[in-house]
Amino acid sequence: MTDLHELYRDLHQHPELSLQEFRTAEVLADALRPLGFDVTTNVGGTGVVGVLRNGDGPVVLLRADIDALPVEEATGLPYSSTRPGVAHACGHDMHATCLVGAAERLAQTRAEWSGTLLVVFQPAEELVCGARNMVEDGLFERFGRPDIVLAQHVGPLPAGMIAYGSGPLMAASDSVTVTLFGRGGHGSAPETTVDPVLMAAHAVVRLQGIVAREISPSERAVVTVGRIQAGTQENVIPETAELGINIRSFNEHVRGLLRAAVERIVRAEAAASGAPREPEFDWHGGTPVLVSDPDATSRTVEAFTAQFGQERLIPGAVVNASEDVGVFGMAAEVPTVFWFFGGIDFSAREPGRAAPMNHSPEFAPDIEPTLSTGVDALVVAARTWLS
Ligand SMILES: [Zn+2]
Ligand SMILES: [Zn+2]
Repeated sequence: MTDLHELYRDLHQHPELSLQEFRTAEVLADALRPLGFDVTTNVGGTGVVGVLRNGDGPVVLLRADIDALPVEEATGLPYSSTRPGVAHACGHDMHATCLVGAAERLAQTRAEWSGTLLVVFQPAEELVCGARNMVEDGLFERFGRPDIVLAQHVGPLPAGMIAYGSGPLMAASDSVTVTLFGRGGHGSAPETTVDPVLMAAHAVVRLQGIVAREISPSERAVVTVGRIQAGTQENVIPETAELGINIRSFNEHVRGLLRAAVERIVRAEAAASGAPREPEFDWHGGTPVLVSDPDATSRTVEAFTAQFGQERLIPGAVVNASEDVGVFGMAAEVPTVFWFFGGIDFSAREPGRAAPMNHSPEFAPDIEPTLSTGVDALVVAARTWLS
């Protein structure tokens, strides 16, 4: 039996960035093999798939993401990251450990259910490309098409609690790199130039009008300019400026409106400045809205309620963050059920101090009761579908 606490601390101490989860993949594959799973590594890069065939019945896919973030850990934990500038600041080490625990329990109790268990350790969730990479590497052709996709995410809720939502749950995310073209020159003679810095500044301000003035207040949408880059020195007006923009939306209509408005405004600001060239747009890293299938969610939540009791469930979760787990369900054309579980033991924390959020250098779940809850939730959800 794997010591789950030890496995968690080991993963936490050895975080690996997206697409570089080599050690993590080995550790997880080694944990699955003795449980009787058929284990394949290097699926869609550093993905790991374990298959447990246990007679006739549905195919249930349980997924955990495994990548870390370029964050310097500041939790002060004795098992903090040993790698400078890399940390499990989103809790994916917790997800992976919970999935090993669930795989172990389901394997031990296989006499009680029948069907096929597909355990998927997915790389590169933070870049929202890992799920697509695995699907494109023949995940379903090689290991079987699931009937249901189940996954969870830890967050700054009280440990022991489970939050769920039905329908659109996490936002679609699209990123675009914009290049604005001006005409460079001497800082003392702006009249001989077209200043791309001023052009970029106007665009950044004007882009904030999209959500405020063009999207219905009843919709959820975000436009963030997270990066702005231009110039090398105070007395040189540069040739170009670059903007890194990210948009979040919850349906295809709003997603289309946001994309079109970003391009329209940036083009118009370039024209207003007399730019010598049209701006360029490089859209990348798109992921669709994550929908927790309403029917499948209500069936799963019924099982959660029976297991945990109503008092440990929080309905109505929706967050503007994004997740690419929906890509599995979309590609397989089957429902996905996704929920959040709490990672903070508030009784052990300084009262009145807000718990750090995922991606904060101070974020790390309290191991218990987070881990046991995450394992239980996966097992209960899987058993809802395994006959
Ligand atoms: Zn994250
Ligand atoms: Zn995450």
